[in-house]
Amino acid sequence: MRILITNIGELTTNVADGDDPCGTRHDAAVLVEGDRIAWVGAAVDAPDADEIVDAQGRAVIPGFVDSHSHLVFGGDRAAEFEARMQGQKYAAGGIRSTVAATRAATDDELRMRLRGFLDEMLAQGTTTVEIKSGYGLDVTTEERLVRLAAEVTEEVTFLGAHVVPAEYADRSDEYVDLVIGEMLDACAPHAKWIDVFCETGAFTVPQSRRVLEAGIARGLQPRVHASQLGSGEGVQLAVELGAASIDHGTYLTDDDVTALAGSATVLTLLPGVEFSTRQPYPDARRLIDAGVTVAIACDTNPGSSFTSSMPFCIAVAVRDMRMTVAEAVHAATVGGAAALRRDDVGRIAPGMRADLVLLKSPSRVHLAYRPGVPLVEAVWKDGVRFS
Ligand SMILES: [Zn+2]
Repeated sequence: MRILITNIGELTTNVADGDDPCGTRHDAAVLVEGDRIAWVGAAVDAPDADEIVDAQGRAVIPGFVDSHSHLVFGGDRAAEFEARMQGQKYAAGGIRSTVAATRAATDDELRMRLRGFLDEMLAQGTTTVEIKSGYGLDVTTEERLVRLAAEVTEEVTFLGAHVVPAEYADRSDEYVDLVIGEMLDACAPHAKWIDVFCETGAFTVPQSRRVLEAGIARGLQPRVHASQLGSGEGVQLAVELGAASIDHGTYLTDDDVTALAGSATVLTLLPGVEFSTRQPYPDARRLIDAGVTVAIACDTNPGSSFTSSMPFCIAVAVRDMRMTVAEAVHAATVGGAAALRRDDVGRIAPGMRADLVLLKSPSRVHLAYRPGVPLVEAVWKDGVRFS
């Protein structure tokens, strides 16, 4: 089956072209063959196909790569959000209320909710999603969470070290022993990534190192939550261990920025978190100008960021993190691919997965210019059209 999407007014390929990292083409066409992109070129040169989609001058971008989410959980924390908006401060410990609800939920309840989130994301243009565990915090539940996540994505992250559960209060080293022992044994077969929340109120730098090194020894690849609530040594640890990404990075020292710029570690910005917790936004301009590779992800979770909308996160990153629209769209697509060490998604080029989004607008600029407006006309994932 060959599908030709033609009369594309503005095509974001992300195949860098001189000064334009987005590799923007006008009056373009894309040929999809099976689950891959077969050809990209000028609409006037377009080859024949079994099915023709006329984009009518509108914009096409790569499907969003959301490299950070927590989608398998029970319960709801709307009341906590409401209290926060009335002045209560965000703290990492709120995770524990979701843990209780998650442990109580059945596999089918968690699975239905998870699939609902994925549908909602796909409708907003997200075609690749990373999903973390971390709301079980015991061997049985963490195993359930990574197993359910593995049913829907290959980007599964074991985050048993999300926070110390209540029953291990004041015994955090013993909890780390459990995470890197029995829990890792149960979860590693379902996961690609190992993650840790390296932050005051969660895990110390030495504890984080133990978690990451144990995961690496089991064949998992490291990624780290760090510098969300204050600066620390989490970024340096991530770079030293060759992590694919450090996520949050709200409070970065100059040394952190220098270390990231000289590394293959991506800094994943999570604008929904600062938006939903009223924390100061990280300065993406400072990072990009220093040469750091930047990704944007939603961090969809019931506590600190309950949006699943990449367009919303792009709009916030442009307005409040001082990114250009081109940089933000780049970060939300090929930046996310880099954060997942994937070279088959995030670009529109021959051989790449046919993950594409046709917008209702003539330009990707509308993603930030028209915040909150549903701008996705159609989505193809692996060459299959949704919506
Ligand atoms: Zn997170």
